[in-house]
Amino acid sequence: MPELPDVENFKDYFNKTSCNKKIKDVLCISPELIKGVGVSDFKKNLIGKSFKKAERRGKCMIVLINKSDRKLVFHFGMTGNLSYTSSESPLSGRDKFARVIFKFENGYELRWLNQRKLGKIWMVKDISEIELLQKMGKEALLLSKKEFFDILSERGKIKSILMDQSKIAGIGNIYSDEILFQSRISPLRDARTLTEKEKGILYKNMKKVLSTAIKLVGKSYPYNGNVSFPKSWIIPHRHSDMICPNNKNHKLRKISIGGRSSYYCPYCQK
Ligand SMILES: [Zn+2]
Repeated sequence: MPELPDVENFKDYFNKTSCNKKIKDVLCISPELIKGVGVSDFKKNLIGKSFKKAERRGKCMIVLINKSDRKLVFHFGMTGNLSYTSSESPLSGRDKFARVIFKFENGYELRWLNQRKLGKIWMVKDISEIELLQKMGKEALLLSKKEFFDILSERGKIKSILMDQSKIAGIGNIYSDEILFQSRISPLRDARTLTEKEKGILYKNMKKVLSTAIKLVGKSYPYNGNVSFPKSWIIPHRHSDMICPNNKNHKLRKISIGGRSSYYCPYCQK
């Protein structure tokens, strides 16, 4: 699922490709993924206008529209992606999963891809109309150390707290595994058992992993999901050899936390 580093790059890609170009038409191939307004209002509020800019909030991308009081909020679901290309280019390869297409007057178009159809695009006047955004906690990269420590004083598994969007915005299953691995903390630990030193390490690694991942994901564009993560990270070992990057004799363990598969090294992470 696209997390903060991925959506940060979607936002940059959108801003580089799709702003201030007159929208000629909008194709809603999967109209059920459009929320907040009906398809005809969705189109009517976009055709003839242009996108102003995109911003990121948590795992959502918010798009402002020139000369309009409406905003679009993109949620990418498990498999979301963007593709800016010539309208002549066939809907093949990953582009066959285009669910909404914004056609510009310049002969190009922005395709919103969503293979598993778990994403959504809302059209709203105020983003607080969307419960997910209204309840969203502070951005992970903007949290102060004190704010982070306060969140960790709550009861619950540390992995679940890191992924709770109402507490910290932007971190999901994959990057929480990485942050915990680099901090040598088990995903199963109750947050209240963490020492001040461990909380400090976790805070530092949260910022480091997210900001490094933003750069690594950015290098993989056009985004195809094949990001080159360092071999010293747990991410490249999760679905492949299941070997701990710290020690080849350590086998990674897969467990379920909050309905998601979490990977960790039971020897390194305590
Ligand atoms: Zn290990």
